[in-house]
Amino acid sequence: MVDDFKIDPWGVSAIDDYDRLIREFGIEEITESLRQKMIKNRFIRRKIIFGHRDLGLIYKAMEQGQPWAVMSGIKPSGPFHLGTSTTALEIVEFQRMGGKVYYGIADIESWEDNGIPWEEAEETAVDNIADILAFGLDPSPEKAYIWRQSKEPKVKDVCFKVSRLVTQNMLNAIYGERTFGLYIASLIQVGDIVLPQVVEGPQPTIVPVGIDQDPHIRLTRDLTRRNYKKFFLPGATYHYLLAGIDGSEKMAKRNPNSYFTFNEPLDAVEKKVKGALTGGRKNLKEQKELGGDPQKCMVYKMLMYHFEENDETLKKDFEMCVKGELMCGDHKRECVEKALKFIKNHRKKKEKLIDKARNLLKID
Ligand code: SF4
Repeated sequence: MVDDFKIDPWGVSAIDDYDRLIREFGIEEITESLRQKMIKNRFIRRKIIFGHRDLGLIYKAMEQGQPWAVMSGIKPSGPFHLGTSTTALEIVEFQRMGGKVYYGIADIESWEDNGIPWEEAEETAVDNIADILAFGLDPSPEKAYIWRQSKEPKVKDVCFKVSRLVTQNMLNAIYGERTFGLYIASLIQVGDIVLPQVVEGPQPTIVPVGIDQDPHIRLTRDLTRRNYKKFFLPGATYHYLLAGIDGSEKMAKRNPNSYFTFNEPLDAVEKKVKGALTGGRKNLKEQKELGGDPQKCMVYKMLMYHFEENDETLKKDFEMCVKGELMCGDHKRECVEKALKFIKNHRKKKEKLIDKARNLLKID
């Protein structure tokens, strides 16, 4: 039953039944034909994004040369890590495909969820934006708009406007019993998601999210339907959440071995990659005879999500692993090398982008 199957967008529980989510919440699977149409997007191509709502409208807009937007954001409660950076990388892919990026700093949410005052969240927000610029986001005004929730009256206006039709029962059904602060933060987020259409008029909008954020998408679509008759219902893409690299259910702050940030000392990163869970067998003999299981392997997933640029290499590694021709020790060493190279390059680029990030956020 849907009623006893809630996803908690602020929680740390892992999702263990994606098929059930797809069925019960009406998420569409990415068909092969749609994948082919959106093949330029690395996360769709690699099947990391598995589901969507209304992604077809984006393709249609692309085909017809109509404007469309890609919206996302970050709660400024800490540096990007392997898990949280996935959506940031996804919006860069969508921007390269022609979407205008709308990127919100969810500082109201970081206060409501984590008790971080807006002023304190500023430096984290600068760090987050410098990261996303280093990932390749083009911040020119015709291609991107970046805001802080606390400083953007338009998103607050949407929150007040849509609240008139929201009852506590409705929020309870979606989120369970939460503080009013979190309920308000979710209504502010409705403002974030419809902002492209408030600012630029009705146009298809796609919001790349982890599946755990779907409650916000459902709420936004419902309130858009009821309040903004001319707007497109905001669409979404859903990616598989990365589990903890140490084999724990989910990347979580309380378990530092489950993830690393791009700000961490390189020797700590190296240690964590070396300690990652693999899908390998218990010894070399079995690995050669039976092959490994890349689907269960966090080394393979780190390469797939972040550190391997070449699709062919990924495919070859997969095949060699299942045939028992690739050994985990060698593959881990390769992954360490690629991760460190990626992080070093990323930091070099990021250093030069801090001032730019500050300007974009209008922080002195
Ligand atoms: S060989 Fe590589 S992909 Fe296969 S299980 Fe080992 S580390 Fe993972």
